[in-house]
Amino acid sequence: MAELTLDGVTKWFDDGGDRIVAVNDATVEIEDGEFLVLVGPSGCGKSTTLRMVAGLETVSQGDIRLGGHSITNEPPTARDIAMVFQSYALYPHMTVRENMSFGLEESTDMPDDEIAAQVEQTAAMMGIADLLDRKPGELSGGQQQRVALGRAIVRDPEVFLMDEPLSNLDAKLRSQMRTELQRLQEELDVTTMYVTHDQTEAMTMGDRIAILNDGELQQVGTPLECYHEPRNVFVAGFIGEPSMNFFDADLENGTLVAEEFEYALSDDLLADVEGHDRLVLGIRPEDIELVGEGDGPHDFRTQVDVVEPMGNENNVYLSFSSAVGAESPDDDVETFIATVSGMRNVESGQEVVARIPEEAIHVFDRDTGEALH
Ligand code: ATP
Repeated sequence: MAELTLDGVTKWFDDGGDRIVAVNDATVEIEDGEFLVLVGPSGCGKSTTLRMVAGLETVSQGDIRLGGHSITNEPPTARDIAMVFQSYALYPHMTVRENMSFGLEESTDMPDDEIAAQVEQTAAMMGIADLLDRKPGELSGGQQQRVALGRAIVRDPEVFLMDEPLSNLDAKLRSQMRTELQRLQEELDVTTMYVTHDQTEAMTMGDRIAILNDGELQQVGTPLECYHEPRNVFVAGFIGEPSMNFFDADLENGTLVAEEFEYALSDDLLADVEGHDRLVLGIRPEDIELVGEGDGPHDFRTQVDVVEPMGNENNVYLSFSSAVGAESPDDDVETFIATVSGMRNVESGQEVVARIPEEAIHVFDRDTGEALH
């Protein structure tokens, strides 16, 4: 069994006497054969986490275990782990064949003919069999990417670590490789930790995703759990495209009072937010309905600022009518986004009623960011 466990893993760097905490107390268990995506903004500690698992960075505190056995103090070569880097890190003076066989020659006592056969077989699987005698400089970016993956796969490791392996590819190739990588990982059934800053990549590829911010794990769950039940404002805003709309609001007599609107809460929702009165109301763009007419408690008169056609969908930027024509040009008119079907005809300047259904709203504590509902 190759389950990979990070137990209270912490990394600090010493920066001229100052301590930079890059990863703080990260605990997560990646099951045997699972594809876990570590996602978060630039500088949040993703690469450092991966490098600690690979043994390229020491662990300041905590323990990393593979199959229940601590590898925290093992050198990288003793760990049965293969890493794929964003830069591919191929040896430029070696052919593809040599790049792929090198690791096996160094780390195993496998006979040469067996290594050769395994390289051929992996190259065929990766669709690079006809490139085996070329050098990396004679390959396209996409081909180099396949070689880098092939080199990891041929070692048949217990764990794959991948650090933004698709980010140097153009958009079309990237989405093709996403699907292919997923298929490969499923077929090979190897425990995988995959780092990206791209939430779409995380949502589409991961069995589960681990969201990291500022060195702290925010939530670990399936993509749908993180989307539907974000644990805090950060996760809610990070997952989903366009991002969730947020409005600061205070709870007054059972009603959320925001700058531009008031939103009455049902008893069920009030029970969830009890004891908190500085709140944030969150609503995903795709959960807002634009209706012709409506004067229900959760219907708001708005004006369309901009329509951004996305093909099958339109992103409609709206502002509350109460804010339109603000007295001073300095007044910040807050816009928010609704995503509606591309068939729907909306034009800038038009007045529409935006319906914000209570069953779709999220409510957070404004001070802690914690999700209350
Ligand atoms: P990116 O997506 O931009 O690659 P990341 O999430 O992978 O970012 P890390 O590279 O892990 O982030 O860096 C986490 C934090 O640790 C950053 O603040 C970074 O500046 C700091 N850091 C990383 N390596 C070192 C180092 N060798 N010395 C000092 N600080 C470091």
